[in-house]
Amino acid sequence: MLPTYRLRLIAYTILLVSFLTATMAYTYIYSRDVILEEAENSVTNTSLLLNGNVELEEKALQRYIELVRTDLRIKEYMFMLVKVGTDNEALKSLYDQHYGWLPVKRHIILSANGRILLGKEHKDLAQTLKKHMKISNQGIFYAHSGNAVEMVTWAPVSYQATQLGIIALTHAIDHEWMERHQQYSGGYLFLENNGSILLSNLPSAEGELFLLKDGHLDINDELYQIRPIILSSSNNSPYHLWYAVSMRSLLAKLERHSRIVLLLTLSGACAILWLGLIIVRNFNKPLSELMHITRSVAKGHLPVMTQTRNKNEIYMLSNQFAVMLQALREKQEEIDRVHQELEQSAITDSLTRLYNRRYLQEIFPRLMSQAQRDHLFLAGILLDLDHFKQINDRHGHLAGDHCLIHLAQLLRETSRPNDYVFRIGGEEFFVLSINDNPQASQVLGEKIRSSLEKHPAAFKNTIIPITTSIGISHTDTTLKAEDALTHLLYHADKALYRAKEKGRNQIQIYHHTDSKSDSIFDNAS
Ligand code: GH3
Ligand code: MG
Ligand code: MG
Repeated sequence: MLPTYRLRLIAYTILLVSFLTATMAYTYIYSRDVILEEAENSVTNTSLLLNGNVELEEKALQRYIELVRTDLRIKEYMFMLVKVGTDNEALKSLYDQHYGWLPVKRHIILSANGRILLGKEHKDLAQTLKKHMKISNQGIFYAHSGNAVEMVTWAPVSYQATQLGIIALTHAIDHEWMERHQQYSGGYLFLENNGSILLSNLPSAEGELFLLKDGHLDINDELYQIRPIILSSSNNSPYHLWYAVSMRSLLAKLERHSRIVLLLTLSGACAILWLGLIIVRNFNKPLSELMHITRSVAKGHLPVMTQTRNKNEIYMLSNQFAVMLQALREKQEEIDRVHQELEQSAITDSLTRLYNRRYLQEIFPRLMSQAQRDHLFLAGILLDLDHFKQINDRHGHLAGDHCLIHLAQLLRETSRPNDYVFRIGGEEFFVLSINDNPQASQVLGEKIRSSLEKHPAAFKNTIIPITTSIGISHTDTTLKAEDALTHLLYHADKALYRAKEKGRNQIQIYHHTDSKSDSIFDNAS
């Protein structure tokens, strides 16, 4: 069993083509036999018709001769001629008057001793008759005469028990006779005499040998189907008449027939193949698209599928799949969005929307390796609002919250894009600042401090001045990231504590010394 529909469709197409070819081949063979048989029958039927015609002509000639022979006046005139010796004018005019209309080629009357009584111009016929009568008494025979062969009928004439002589009538079998018969036969007539063709309506055949090859007549390397036309006395006559049809026209007909069948087979096969391929393509295209997309889905993608207006089953399935994909994509987008929100909320503080301590731990190793790689300074700026308890106490906790939001906004505005701002405690903030010089963090710290001093928070028409103390320290890049952050926060806190100690609203910087136990604070303000 073929595994795919594509292969099955191709196989069905090939089967159809084979079936068509086999049907056409059978039709061709069958119709070829029919053509051959029909040709055979046609030749046989035409030859039968010709046989009948020749027989009719022979009988007609015999009837004519009977008519003349039994005419009493003819007999009397002959008697007068033979016995009294009158001239033949009376016999001639009698014959012309009464029998001149007979459709015969020649007529002759001979006396019993062979004298020509009528038709003196036909001495050759008289000779032929005399010769024939010596060897046969058959009343009809065929004889050569000029360019033709004559069908000769003859009969004795007797009067009052006296043998007066004979009378003979002839028909010519000549070109004109053959042409007349060819008109309805469509073939050729050959008059054969002693193995050669004496007369034919195929001029090139005349004089050629009458050669038979596999039952066919071979003239100048062309074969003819032949049938005999029976002539009276043909048994002992040297003349034989044949009806022939060229095999060439039959072969040409067969060739034409095979060309048509071949053309039909080819065009039919091509049409089926073409149709088959179109069906395969139409059938396969949406399926392979669907396969491609399902593979993509299996890999975790949700590609966009355009829907088609096509209403067939496969396209409808494909459209349903597209709808399903769209729904999946929308769900996925929602999940992504919620996930992103969750991720964001996991690393941000809900009040100020600044990053939280967790994110500080997450991002720090990355920033530290960047600083190490690019030989930069990674500073931590720790802020703690001054006397915040008092603000809460004086203005309320909500006002306190608002002050925290105000500071967060200010930190966002004063920091640069590559600074990270965190809220790491209640009112404690931390800025991770990466710079190419150690003084830049100090500048940033001062900018934050002075900006907050200049821009107090405002809550419900109340201006709330707030200040912050700031401790700054620098990352020890020789430590591991985890330890470096602990140290950074610890040292910044130390500096911040120092700033609180020294009166608040100021910056203190923690400097590392070679000895870890020692540290020097710088008052930056
Ligand atoms: P100091 O100058 O020494 O820092 O004095 P202080 O009053 O600010 O002291 P401290 O930093 O210890 O006080 C922290 C106070 O901040 C305690 C708490 O009431 C307040 N606080 C902490 N978190 C929040 C918060 O989310 N909202 C509000 N409104 N207040 C908070
Ligand atoms: Mg505090
Ligand atoms: Mg404080």
